[in-house]
Amino acid sequence: MSTSTAPTAIWSPPIWWWRPTGREAAGIPVNAWQYEQRGIVANIACDAGLQATAWQRFLPDGVLALLPLDAERASIVWSADDATADHLMGLDDGAFGEVLAAALQQHLGGVRVLSRRADFPLGAAHAERYWAPRLALLGDAAHVIHPLAGQGLNLGLADAGELAAALSRHPGELARALRGYSRRRRTATADMIMITDGLHRLFGPAGPDFAELREAGMAMVNRLTPLRRMLVERALDTRDAQVS
Ligand SMILES: Cc1cc2nc3c(=O)[nH]c(=O)nc-3n(C[C@H](O)[C@H](O)[C@H](O)COP(=O)(O)OP(=O)(O)OC[C@H]3O[C@@H](n4cnc5c(N)ncnc54)[C@H](O)[C@@H]3O)c2cc1C
Repeated sequence: MSTSTAPTAIWSPPIWWWRPTGREAAGIPVNAWQYEQRGIVANIACDAGLQATAWQRFLPDGVLALLPLDAERASIVWSADDATADHLMGLDDGAFGEVLAAALQQHLGGVRVLSRRADFPLGAAHAERYWAPRLALLGDAAHVIHPLAGQGLNLGLADAGELAAALSRHPGELARALRGYSRRRRTATADMIMITDGLHRLFGPAGPDFAELREAGMAMVNRLTPLRRMLVERALDTRDAQVS
């Protein structure tokens, strides 16, 4: 019997590893790819408070988002390339808080880390259809997007809303309702995947040719409320209340 006290390695599966048995059994193909980035999540408190605002900063090597939990506490998602993520995860809480405050340009004052940090490999995935006979795919079973826009959950909620609407539009015609649901939501989600993938390419690791464009893009997106509004509208599919 081993008396070693060495910590046991825990294998953390990538997000696309889990494959819903229903989707697999129905033989629905999925397009999936990885970003070679990790998303670091934690709860924090800011000395200056959150000002009831969600904050997002586009950094040279990733994107940092803060979502308020209450007046002082927020959850963060920091998407960073693997080397940066290794560095950030290796810091103690005090040093991580200082790096975080600096990344936020001290706008929110000092930062304290309140929770354990965790990091997840980032990728994207899109099922080729969201339905099979007597089966509907919703949420991350149907689509996984880069979290830089903070829209993954919204997409799943919009799926649920559209599925309910489709079922009530076509009572007793399940296959028709599911087909309509799939068509409508897949189109909206494909748009969002394209937008978040494009933003990731613009703000992710890029060659020197991209430097000026990226600088301009960062300044623009950091200021633009309309872009964020557009992302939310697309995620919730509220651009067009008309339902076919
Ligand atoms: C780092 C990171 C940051 C993110 N940040 C944001 C953000 O700021 N805003 C946002 O909107 N979205 C964000 N997302 C995306 C968001 O987390 C997902 O879009 C959302 O959780 C999907 O919800 P879901 O219910 O579809 O799937 P999940 O949250 O994955 O829930 C599926 C559940 O089913 C369970 N399950 C799996 N297989 C089985 C089985 N065979 N039987 C029974 N149960 C099973 C799982 O254990 C899990 O609890 C982020 C994602 C990551 C990775």
